[in-house]
Amino acid sequence: MKKIQIKTVKGFNEILPPESFRWRLVEDKFRDLLEGYGFAELRLALLEPTELFARSIGGETDIVEKEMYTFVDRSDRSLTLRPEATASVVRAYNQYSLGKISEINKLYYVGPMFRYERPQKGRYRQFHQLGAEVFGEESFYQDAETLVMLAQFFHALSVKGAVLHLNSLGCEACRPAFRDQLKNYLYERQEALCGDCRRRISENPLRALDCKNPQCREAAAGAPLISNALCDGCHQHFSGLCSLLDDVGLDYQVNPRLVRGLDYYTRTTFEFLAGDLGAQNAVAAGGRYDRLVEELGGKATPAFGFAIGFERLMMLIGSEVAPLSSPFVALVPLGEEALRLLFPIHVELNREAQMTTLGFQQKSLKSQLKKADKDGVTYALIVGPDELNQGEALCRNMRTKEQSRLPLNRLGEALRELLP
Ligand code: ATP
Ligand code: MG
Repeated sequence: MKKIQIKTVKGFNEILPPESFRWRLVEDKFRDLLEGYGFAELRLALLEPTELFARSIGGETDIVEKEMYTFVDRSDRSLTLRPEATASVVRAYNQYSLGKISEINKLYYVGPMFRYERPQKGRYRQFHQLGAEVFGEESFYQDAETLVMLAQFFHALSVKGAVLHLNSLGCEACRPAFRDQLKNYLYERQEALCGDCRRRISENPLRALDCKNPQCREAAAGAPLISNALCDGCHQHFSGLCSLLDDVGLDYQVNPRLVRGLDYYTRTTFEFLAGDLGAQNAVAAGGRYDRLVEELGGKATPAFGFAIGFERLMMLIGSEVAPLSSPFVALVPLGEEALRLLFPIHVELNREAQMTTLGFQQKSLKSQLKKADKDGVTYALIVGPDELNQGEALCRNMRTKEQSRLPLNRLGEALRELLP
């Protein structure tokens, strides 16, 4: 039979050991922090009706127009692998009437997202997000608390150089007039815009402010600013948020051009940008979306959320996450009889906590000690024919190289006594 090697679909990012251990440490930190702030986890479907994303993210956005993994299933339904999770969280919030269970709902999620983008460093077709959403709180205090929590997470992981960029996108009251102003500005400069931006002027002119095409950036440089068009309510919300961040000493930059690539945002939007990430410089992003719950069929409910790009976060923290805890003792049998004797001790100690390693292949002393060293154990416990005769195992401290002897008939206890 011809040998073929099957590989992953292009751009689908998988996490292998030892990276997967580092991921879990970071994920645990995220869970601990969020649960400390009163968030609870949602584990959601990865596949949704396509309509969910078309209606929430918006038809004239890059995600919906170009990046979704959409297909028709065997019953002719159009389904989509989720490109982001906020829409799904809102769908779940409505579907399970979570708003009836409590007035404020704080939910978080961790998992893969799928976007058909050009794969490159920090940009994949299957990537992962850590995210959270708060429902039922309109106050800018909520925006501030959530941003402080995010900054605290980055600080705990020693993420350096992530700068918070903030903007307000206004609301139903003030955004329409701003959109008209922007439309006029863009129509006058249509020739300079890329095809997407030109096509989107009438339906979604804000997209032009988010376009990465250098020509569009240049054309949009003198565009009217939303910050000058906010209504009183939006203005107060934004200045209230900024002054709370000032009070607690969280640095930020107001960036009136930050619009984000999704349509559902109202008022606060933000991104954490890190220069070290190069072109893929956003490590986390989010904002307020006070209309979405209602637009997806629920009761009007204000909401605020964010998503962190897991891959990009890991690029920023390098190897600074604490190393794995290693097993404590390598059991080193020399010969079948020693292996037989050590196996029950290995099982017994590992029932309590992963404490010992044991090789089953009867390798040489040298090769077993080399492996013990690589595993980072503190002790190697050697049992060969001599030790069996004398009824004592040889116990070597791998750091100090000191050796001692432990009685074979109470090895389990003796090893436990060595624990720090
Ligand atoms: P970008 O501008 O880099 O395309 P985005 O605005 O599309 O990002 P969001 O939809 O806000 O991204 O998703 C939140 C976070 O998820 C981003 O800040 C980023 O860290 C991460 N992210 C988004 N798309 C990808 C991807 N294709 N691969 C890896 N991480 C991604
Ligand atoms: Mg994108």
